[in-house]
Amino acid sequence: MAEAGDGLDDALDTAASPEVRDAFRQSLPAWFDGARRPMPWREPGKDGRRDPYRVWVSEVMLQQTRVETATPYFRRFVERFPTVEALAAAPLDDVLKHWEGLGYYSRARNLHRAAGQVVAEHGGAVPSTEEAFRALPGVGPYTAAAVLSLAFDAPLAVLDGNVIRVLTRVFAVTADARAGRTRTALQTLADALLDRERPGRWNESVMELGATVCTPRSPACPRCPLRPVCQAAALGTPEAFPVVSKRAPTPHHTIAVGVVTDDDGRVLIQRRPEDAMLGGLWEFPGGKVEPGESLEDACAREVREELGVEVAVGAPIARVEHAYSHFRITMHAFRCRVVSGEPRTETGEPWAWVAIGDLDGYAFPRANGRVIEALREQVRAPRLL
Ligand code: SF4
Repeated sequence: MAEAGDGLDDALDTAASPEVRDAFRQSLPAWFDGARRPMPWREPGKDGRRDPYRVWVSEVMLQQTRVETATPYFRRFVERFPTVEALAAAPLDDVLKHWEGLGYYSRARNLHRAAGQVVAEHGGAVPSTEEAFRALPGVGPYTAAAVLSLAFDAPLAVLDGNVIRVLTRVFAVTADARAGRTRTALQTLADALLDRERPGRWNESVMELGATVCTPRSPACPRCPLRPVCQAAALGTPEAFPVVSKRAPTPHHTIAVGVVTDDDGRVLIQRRPEDAMLGGLWEFPGGKVEPGESLEDACAREVREELGVEVAVGAPIARVEHAYSHFRITMHAFRCRVVSGEPRTETGEPWAWVAIGDLDGYAFPRANGRVIEALREQVRAPRLL
């Protein structure tokens, strides 16, 4: 339930007023028609409609990723996997390689699994009903609303970070935007404002406004089509919205990894289990440094535990800072040489000795990618163990 004075209680009433409805259903889409940025997934196919598969891939890529970053990935991905069938038939390694650097690899794994399901259960046609589409792996309410409205004009309102920012500003919502009840109320509000004649265009209008005009910092209110009905702009405090509760400090872990080399200069890598975080990607063996443990001791212990070999830990190669969605790491990578033992994994996951020049054939998490860059620099200017 809304609380008195938080803006949610009367937003629905305000949304029903002719001025607000016209601003959202006429001024905003008309602005969008003139301002929409060209994007490869916005191009219609030969039949004049958007390809649902391309819309789907783009929406999965765009979660947590900016348009500028996602665009080259999208082009490479649909060139290599132009159809649902092509994606379903591809090895997971190949899919992850084309996703490498985008992060959130569970999205790629789910997309791959979902493509297999679409081929097996729907003859390769992306399902157009909410029930069938939501039954696919990795498809939540946002992806369903975005893909089905953009590709099939299903009357589903999208609620992403851009939409939340626009709505909380226009209706001066002071309720915590991270709270579940606020999300539910904002979804109801978006549903009420949605243009049911052209829901895809409406969704894109609001998202585009949030991305280009109603930006988190310094929103361009004077050229905003919603300016006449925007309460935050009238108050002169648009940046005060959305109101969000403070997050707990992000945990930090110190990680030690071993770049184990053999006499031929090859390095030892292993594949992460598919059901783990970053599942299916390749990495150097390593893990968290225990309290009181030196970086070198942690490196040797982790290599022993993961691959069953004793190593001599040598010179450091790189120190990499990296932030994931819920924690940060500082990764210390060391050169190592095998002293005894043959590599094996407890879990049966694959491992491989790979020439440094061939590492590009494997998909790595971003932090490991930066270790590889440092390794290549050092190979060009060798340091002895
Ligand atoms: S007037 Fe300003 S704050 Fe209001 S929706 Fe437009 S850009 Fe955002």
